[in-house]
Amino acid sequence: MLLRNRLLNPQNFPVINFSSPLPSSSSSLSFLRPLSVSSLHAPTNSSPPKRSSTAQPNASASAAAAAGFVRTALFVPPGVSRDEVTAEMVLPGSNIVVGPYAGEARIKMVEFVKSSARARDCPKDSRPEFAILGRSNVGKSSLINTLVRKKDVALTSKKPGKTQLINHFLINKSWYIVDLPGYGFANAPESARMDWSSFTKGYFLNRDTLVSALLLVDSSIPPQKVDLDCANWLGRNNIGMTFVFTKCDKIKSGKGKRPDDNIKHFQDMISKFYQEPPPWIMTSSVSGLGRDELLLHMSQLRNYWDNEAV
Ligand code: GDP
Repeated sequence: MLLRNRLLNPQNFPVINFSSPLPSSSSSLSFLRPLSVSSLHAPTNSSPPKRSSTAQPNASASAAAAAGFVRTALFVPPGVSRDEVTAEMVLPGSNIVVGPYAGEARIKMVEFVKSSARARDCPKDSRPEFAILGRSNVGKSSLINTLVRKKDVALTSKKPGKTQLINHFLINKSWYIVDLPGYGFANAPESARMDWSSFTKGYFLNRDTLVSALLLVDSSIPPQKVDLDCANWLGRNNIGMTFVFTKCDKIKSGKGKRPDDNIKHFQDMISKFYQEPPPWIMTSSVSGLGRDELLLHMSQLRNYWDNEAV
């Protein structure tokens, strides 16, 4: 469990006392069974990591500098040393380094399993799961539909404030995508907000099979306090998360900031919460931007979780 927390919670919030840093070399994980690099299944439009035993830190450092990425801002997964990261190991449109745990990322089968009104009603098997959450209208349903490549797997129009449920979708019969109720409805009654608060928080605090939360953030608008509050709450409660920026295709004309400005602003606002940068990725459900990369990232978190659970 400790190792799992190291992977899932590289971020270090002020109120949490993490006694151990994220492992920075594969040697600290030698009792695990990492996938070999040759077994990686990278999606067609992303680069598999190239890990050469002859790679020299200095050479890769200059390559990194030439490629313009900031090593200290990267999310480096277990099995990879920060010094050995090269530009081609970083997923496009993200700060995520692909490591040896990345594997089969394709979704071949999706089945709706159940809707649960309470955390204790959720499926009780031990399959790993990813919880997808975000403000109402952030594009959560659209992203889920895009990930599984099916229309209307998750309903894309929901009425703010109505009772909502925790929805489990089984992927490839081996892991779950969990659709959580949206939060922060502008016009929702207080009671609806409390509903989110009590039962969704209950889910996070009790779900042992949760690999990571995917916290969706709308890149077409400036940072919202409710998203920052949610990120802070997850961090304080030791829940690993990936920031998934949605609607990155939306380029506003005239007034209004561009998605990359909003993303930078959001990151500036959360950076003080972390010693290690959390993973983040840009996506669009309209263009498909980031889809394959996000699935590959999820595969490496999942495979590490599976190995750790053995
Ligand atoms: P949810 O309430 O978080 O489930 O949000 P939805 O998936 O229902 O999306 C809310 C609105 O944003 C809808 O009008 C979508 O068409 C739109 N939307 C969602 N994702 C994107 C995206 O990637 N790009 C653009 N331009 N619009 C999006």
